[in-house]
Amino acid sequence: MTPALVRCGRPAGRTVERVTSAPPSTVPLDDRFARELPEMALPWHAEAAPDPQLLVLNEPLAAELGLDPAALRGADGVRFLVGNAVPPGARPVAQAYAGHQFGGYNPRLGDGRALLLGELVDADGRVRDLHLKGSGPTPFSRGGDGFAAVGPMLREYVISEAMHALGIPTTRALAVVATGRPVYRETALPGAVLARVASSHLRVGSFQYARSTGDVELLRRLADVAIERHHPAAAEAENRYLALYEAVVAAQASLVAQWMLVGFVHGVMNTDNATISGETIDYGPCAFMEAVDPATVYSSIDAGGRYAYGNQPLIAEWNLARLAESLLPLLAEEQEPAVELAVAALTRFRPQYSAAWTAGMRAKLGLPEGLDDAATGPLAEELLELLQAGHVDHTSFFRALGSAARGDVDPARNLFLDLAGVDTWLQRWGALEPDAAAMDRVNPVYIPRNHLVEEALEAATGGDLEPLGRLLDVVTRPFEERPGLDRYAAPAPEDFGAAYRTFCGT
Ligand code: AMP
Ligand code: MG
Repeated sequence: MTPALVRCGRPAGRTVERVTSAPPSTVPLDDRFARELPEMALPWHAEAAPDPQLLVLNEPLAAELGLDPAALRGADGVRFLVGNAVPPGARPVAQAYAGHQFGGYNPRLGDGRALLLGELVDADGRVRDLHLKGSGPTPFSRGGDGFAAVGPMLREYVISEAMHALGIPTTRALAVVATGRPVYRETALPGAVLARVASSHLRVGSFQYARSTGDVELLRRLADVAIERHHPAAAEAENRYLALYEAVVAAQASLVAQWMLVGFVHGVMNTDNATISGETIDYGPCAFMEAVDPATVYSSIDAGGRYAYGNQPLIAEWNLARLAESLLPLLAEEQEPAVELAVAALTRFRPQYSAAWTAGMRAKLGLPEGLDDAATGPLAEELLELLQAGHVDHTSFFRALGSAARGDVDPARNLFLDLAGVDTWLQRWGALEPDAAAMDRVNPVYIPRNHLVEEALEAATGGDLEPLGRLLDVVTRPFEERPGLDRYAAPAPEDFGAAYRTFCGT
């Protein structure tokens, strides 16, 4: 039996009880961001959750952070996870940032429904942010209610953990706790808080905000924090801020290439959702593409297709141009040489993206590393044209190609109606002697397919957490084909597909 978690009828509680017993009292949360960048950190508190119930806890991640999973499951632990029991010494803040949303600039976004609880040092000695999403209104809420619903928070949990298992840099999900407070969207929905872990929450939008204050010393301090935390090699460079910029360009080029290689559509690549670390962040209307098509859009608010699958590299480059504009005062004393340096650095995005994509494709096709890009590139491009023309499922095809490398071409071939093109392609590719075992290590069997995610979230919202647990188990071991899981590997039924829309996680 799974616990019912919907308590929509209950009025929201208002009192915050001070709970200081273990584990919150022992969690060594630092207030580093608040100390280093006070101009961008507004001390704030989470709204009291009237009846917090833990829905899902990431035990391996908790252990990585030095947190005791058993303690987190206890009453005090759950209060800690919704921000209602703050360890002594911690100073939760709402972070200020700006951003271009769908191309339009907003000088003041910030954490409108989130809080940075503080920083932890993980088992590897890395500093990680512990952050809450859905923790209540802040001075940055701009008319929003500051809350989040169970469905979208579980969605971020599932998809970010799937991305991590696929080897793609991403923020992680530590826990989702139902608050017992209804949130009102089109209907009343059960509310929740996601506890998120990131190597930081510094975004392109953080730099836009610092730049817009006109305070160059703040901008420099922000850049120094980013260098120390994410790109320490830049500190050794002659022009450390240019080196920082180059490092972010490289990190984003590599990240977006990895999205493209698994068919991930982020859905809302605003500059406030582009990290300096190169981690994927803010899983709102994201989804995995099934039939290959560059025009694929799932987000209900992206009517113009700005953030379509095939546009993602261009948008990443556009976002990086906005970062360059913000950094100009640090790159050189005069504007003109600063612009020249920025342009030269940004020019490297395209070749870096192409190299990362081509290397990833070479691995997906099981071809040796030494193989010339000039051979891999056209072979891969031609394949994508065939996949698009045949409306072939991206994930199924690449996995089936592993069987083709073992001599059984049927699973891959049978995904096409028009066989002439694919037969010629399979012959050319087969002649390069692809390595099937290597392919199975990079081509997932299981991704969080949209219909399965929706099914799991709907059940969870109604109180049944079992489908969610099963889905999580499957997508966090994506490369390992296991018996009995066929339905998790199959594309959505026809009646689900074309009209599928995702909604921003509000
Ligand atoms: P997102 O689409 O999650 O990246 O959010 C974009 C901006 O809108 C950020 O400043 C969020 O804090 C803010 N925001 C999103 N949803 C809400 C909400 N329900 N209440 C207040 N602010 C929100
Ligand atoms: Mg965001």
